[in-house]
Amino acid sequence: MDHFQYRDGELFAEDVPLSSIAQEVGTPTYVYSSATLRRHYRVFDEAFTGRDHLICYAMKANSNQAVLRLLADLGAGMDIVSGGELARARAAGVPGEKIVFSGVGKTDEEIRAALDHGIFCFNVESLPELRRISEVAAGRGQKAPVSLRINPDVDAQTHEKISTGKAVDKFGIPWMEARAAYGLARDLPGVMVKGVTMHIGSQITTLAPFERAFTLLAELVELLRADGHEISHVDLGGGLGVPYHGDTDVPPHPRDYAEMVNRTLGHLGVTYVFEPGRMIAGNAGVLLGRVIFVKETETKTFVISDIGMNDLMRPTLYEAFHHIRPLKEPAPGAPMQVVDVVGPVCETGDYIARDRKLPVMERGDLFAVMTAGAYGAVMSNTYNTRPLTPEVLVDGDKFAVIRPRMEVEDIIALDALPPWSG
Ligand SMILES: *Cc1c(COP(=O)(O)O)cnc(C)c1O
Repeated sequence: MDHFQYRDGELFAEDVPLSSIAQEVGTPTYVYSSATLRRHYRVFDEAFTGRDHLICYAMKANSNQAVLRLLADLGAGMDIVSGGELARARAAGVPGEKIVFSGVGKTDEEIRAALDHGIFCFNVESLPELRRISEVAAGRGQKAPVSLRINPDVDAQTHEKISTGKAVDKFGIPWMEARAAYGLARDLPGVMVKGVTMHIGSQITTLAPFERAFTLLAELVELLRADGHEISHVDLGGGLGVPYHGDTDVPPHPRDYAEMVNRTLGHLGVTYVFEPGRMIAGNAGVLLGRVIFVKETETKTFVISDIGMNDLMRPTLYEAFHHIRPLKEPAPGAPMQVVDVVGPVCETGDYIARDRKLPVMERGDLFAVMTAGAYGAVMSNTYNTRPLTPEVLVDGDKFAVIRPRMEVEDIIALDALPPWSG
């Protein structure tokens, strides 16, 4: 459920017509709905009412400070994957004790920073990392709280580039090595075992892969307890999908997910930690663009827009599907056309939609790329010396620019000439 709807023939974000944002801020521009962000967080939170749980929003999905602050105000913790994200989370007012630190390549500097901020837990992805965290923490007379991320080797049935829980993926410690790894953790002076973590992938739209993973997780917790480890939490990662198409990819409702989690893990008496990213932010954002030219060739019609792959990389990176909706609602029976919607970037992979049947679009028309709130702006870059995409947050009938449009001069100023260039 989102808050982007047609009203009186115009696409609105909550109570703001998107065309007024396009006019004031220009295009391309990301627009987020506060009500949608809040709703997604609350629906997930309420599904676990009565159970000890901590929701650590996977901030890599959308880490604008305004988005983080909105979620922090609702009580969210954060799942971070870098020292940069740690700084962002703390700047947004998230306390260290609500932060978990994931990722396969934590540097000494990042480990030290996380210890400085007293984070809730390190999600450890390998034995070399476990040893290193122990060395760094022990060197400061500390014991770092750790949870080992176990790779259960289940197929999340998602795109290969966002699968993380198969044996061939780079993430986590193999299931078969888990008990030995926990044995090592017990013997190391600078770590303290807290939990077990799994995150099997992203954009998962059925419960079955989760259930397989969590059943293995429950077995492992019992084995580890029998080995004498105190396991006080299980971190179930993120991964719940969002409906990009809206028909073939409808994800389970958080209530049903919660029912399955309680069924597989409820008897363990552990705190649940969750790391949802996409399901919080995905449907809470759109990307506004404008048609620059319509180019007809013998075989195709190209709608060339001002949204490049530098603004939204998902179609290029994952062959992702995003609905496209004109800001002016098409009249019933308006003529349709099969087109490729492409960007201005000099790459064949620079497209938003291919062979898509859309209402006929003309130069100057404004449109919205839907479900762009997660893994959109955060992946944007300045390829082709295109300024980073601005971001806008809507709340009711108000909107505010939460990342101003960058100027080309700002990009040029990032570079420096060598002193010998005269
Ligand atoms: C990316 C990531 C998440 C969030 O995944 P979503 O599919 O966006 O919910 C959670 N945990 C870890 C470890 C991740 O890398």
